[in-house]
Amino acid sequence: MTFDDLGLSDAVRGAVKQAGYSTPTPIQAQAIPHILERRDVLGIAQTGTGKTAAFTLPMLTMLETGRARARMPRTLIVEPTRELAAQVQEAFEKYGVNHKLSVALLIGGVSFGDQDLKISRGADVLIATPGRLLDHVERGKLLLSGVELLVIDEADRMLDMGFIPDIERICKLVPFTRQTLFFTATMPPEIQRLTGQFLHNPVQVEVARPATTASTITQTLVATSDRDYEKRETLRQLLGAPELKNAIIFCNRKRSVVELHRSLMRHNFSVAALHGDMDQPSRMRALDSFRQGSTKFLVASDVAARGLDIPAVSHIFNFDVPHHSEDYVHRIGRTGRAGLEGTAITLVAPSDAKSLDAIEKLIGQPIPWSTQPVKPAEAMAEGGPSTPRKTNGERSRSRTGSGRRASPAASSPNAKKHAVRPVPEREPAVRQEVRREASPHTKPAPARRSHEAEAAVVGLGDHVPSFLLRPVRTGA
Ligand code: AMP
Repeated sequence: MTFDDLGLSDAVRGAVKQAGYSTPTPIQAQAIPHILERRDVLGIAQTGTGKTAAFTLPMLTMLETGRARARMPRTLIVEPTRELAAQVQEAFEKYGVNHKLSVALLIGGVSFGDQDLKISRGADVLIATPGRLLDHVERGKLLLSGVELLVIDEADRMLDMGFIPDIERICKLVPFTRQTLFFTATMPPEIQRLTGQFLHNPVQVEVARPATTASTITQTLVATSDRDYEKRETLRQLLGAPELKNAIIFCNRKRSVVELHRSLMRHNFSVAALHGDMDQPSRMRALDSFRQGSTKFLVASDVAARGLDIPAVSHIFNFDVPHHSEDYVHRIGRTGRAGLEGTAITLVAPSDAKSLDAIEKLIGQPIPWSTQPVKPAEAMAEGGPSTPRKTNGERSRSRTGSGRRASPAASSPNAKKHAVRPVPEREPAVRQEVRREASPHTKPAPARRSHEAEAAVVGLGDHVPSFLLRPVRTGA
């Protein structure tokens, strides 16, 4: 099958050739002919499968006839995040080089004025996030009654983000007779209900099992502690791997993104942050610097990073094991794209047992534990990728704080001797603990939020630091 067999216009085929694509991906081959026949399509596909082009290319072909009217867009694409919306806009620029179509982007974090102006001139394609779209409708500046084609992209992510009521409202604002293209990576019951309600006799196109992970990705687990500062130390050691070119590091919470970003900066890593509370220009700056390679690491939250198309990411780190197992598949899917090799490393603390089990169940395979010992902390202080500045940062805090955070070994006269000695015992010990908790016969310990854990701990708490487990050296 080639792009010539799909019914696309000459102008679109020319752009595809220019983009360097020779063969349609499975989702493109299956969906494009149906879309051109004006059928509703339910596409079950993850990002990375070429799904953006699967709806963009036929839309461009169909938009070649007809004209946009003021404040009444002809087509509407709803995306869960600003980055995804911006990415779709880029796809229209790339595939629409031979067209003179007007594309408007309505996302939060940027002024209403420019967006108003674009809509008032008439948009062939409107790409929007739900909140900003409805804001424009409520201001009376936008009418959705002229929409001929509606695309709901990343529907399961919309569900995670609480956008389903907004999506239902939007679906009711567009004409009943419109064509609907609905994309989702998974089909939870709520999404199933939505497709039953808003799609008319859809063609279902499924390109890969929702939970499959690309075979080009090497997945590994690394045991670590529940304490954030120890996790950060484990991470820093892993970030020094010689084969690592760049990496996205995922955290479960925005606050953790901020903390980890700050910590890595202090340790002189080339790093940017991406989370939902950042304003749009900062988000775009962070993404661009990572895409262009001027920043080596990107610390990100799930929401901000979902579906981002960044080719050639060599490593993914899960600083936190995701609570939703589908997020694991999405996170690691940022690497190993377009047939490239990728590595996904997940830091696993004892309290992560339940989440890890759910992930392994979802992907249908156990994830192997790393056999590489993680070097002790002091080795990094002596010769790691960076030496932290002793400002108000975490190191100085740890030394002047309660004492519980400090590693006496790091400042002891014996530190140099210890520096080259790996601690291979440490990993299996934690690993066993994780597995024990995961056993169906034992109740897993409830996961604690790190700040709660820190506040509640007295002395060393239930944690035995690795330096206490080492044989004592007498120096004789
Ligand atoms: P998506 O799933 O839409 O995020 O697309 C993933 C990546 O695949 C993007 O970088 C596209 O440029 C690329 N892509 C889309 N269609 C094709 C194709 N037919 N051949 C090669 N690459 C493609």
